[in-house]
Amino acid sequence: MKDEPAILGGSPVFDDTVVITKPTLPGADELIEQIETVLSSGMITTSKFVRNFEEKVSEYIDVKHAVAVNSCTSGLILILKALGVEGEVLIPSFTFYATAHAVRWNGLKPVFVDCDRGTYNIDPEEVEKAIGPKTSAIIGVHLFGNPCAIDRLEQIATKHNLRLIFDSAHGFGSRFHGSSVGGSGDAESFSLSPTKLITAGEGGMVTTNDDELAKKLKIARNYGDGGTYDCELLGLNARMPEISAILGISCLEKLEENVKHRNRLAERYKQNLSGIAGLSFQEIENGNRSSCKDFTVLINADEFGMDRDILSEALSKENISTRKYFYPPVHQQKLYTKYYDGRNSLAVTEEISSNVLSLPLYSHLEDNIVDRVCEAIEGIHEFSEEISDSKVF
Ligand SMILES: *Cc1c(COP(=O)(O)O)cnc(C)c1O
Repeated sequence: MKDEPAILGGSPVFDDTVVITKPTLPGADELIEQIETVLSSGMITTSKFVRNFEEKVSEYIDVKHAVAVNSCTSGLILILKALGVEGEVLIPSFTFYATAHAVRWNGLKPVFVDCDRGTYNIDPEEVEKAIGPKTSAIIGVHLFGNPCAIDRLEQIATKHNLRLIFDSAHGFGSRFHGSSVGGSGDAESFSLSPTKLITAGEGGMVTTNDDELAKKLKIARNYGDGGTYDCELLGLNARMPEISAILGISCLEKLEENVKHRNRLAERYKQNLSGIAGLSFQEIENGNRSSCKDFTVLINADEFGMDRDILSEALSKENISTRKYFYPPVHQQKLYTKYYDGRNSLAVTEEISSNVLSLPLYSHLEDNIVDRVCEAIEGIHEFSEEISDSKVF
């Protein structure tokens, strides 16, 4: 007989909390010389190190231009602005709310599109159905680092003469049909915030093969001033500090190693959990690689014996942090309900969003922690009847 899970009064699997994620950072000694160069030069924003970071990213991705900005969100806002997008933009609802915020900061209307049951990414069939006379752009998201259906979305965008943008916040290290994500559509915007694979403290990187757009984005991140003090574009101050670029470059150097480790950990989670009834995982299409920004399980409450919320509570009693990424879906959030008229079904989004749970994953997480998290889940599953009967809920 196994020990009782902590939610029934047993002792927790972990004495100290296992966090859901944390950044993998270099030591101060590795960066100090470069930081001193910046401080003594007096050039503390968008200078030598930022340019170097941009070059390294464009080389890594194999894209013509990388334009550093101060967040993925501002990158998305400026892409839409620089492209002059008008009217309605098709976006997934199963995403982080910043995808929608970028649309609204441009005064555009978000039209929510359902996701695919297997990949959790925006469903190209649903995209095509949702196109109307006011549609002018599509934003795809590489959710949890799983590349979305880039080729299908490109076909649709070309056929209907729409702009195509990617929210690649999770995309550093992702590969689509063998190539690094970042060179598709009109532009892609990556995040460098602390929970992502590469961090610059805060920051973003916009990538594009469009020379004209790259030029506009560099103006746009500088308030819209191209150097004449005579603005032609409504920009932002979205510049990246030099010290952030130093940190970003250092993280980029470790990216491949970290993505591989995360993929190994994700495989380990899957192997350990595959025998447990009612758990399934995001599908990564053959030939693609996820960055494994997050590792998420989908819980079928009937088969598993309890729902996502109870599992999350039971894991927290074991000192294991989890997150309900992304719940509620964007169209059900207070700011966005008014943009959803119910015309496009979001049934898959609603189902997935209500049943997913992200488990701890970061680039220096150890194998044995993954194993113990899985044992905790198994233990909780074995006591599912007792937990349901215990009237804790
Ligand atoms: C983190 C995230 C963003 C926002 O990135 P910032 O750099 O914090 O602006 C946008 N979209 C998705 C899907 C994200 O996860």
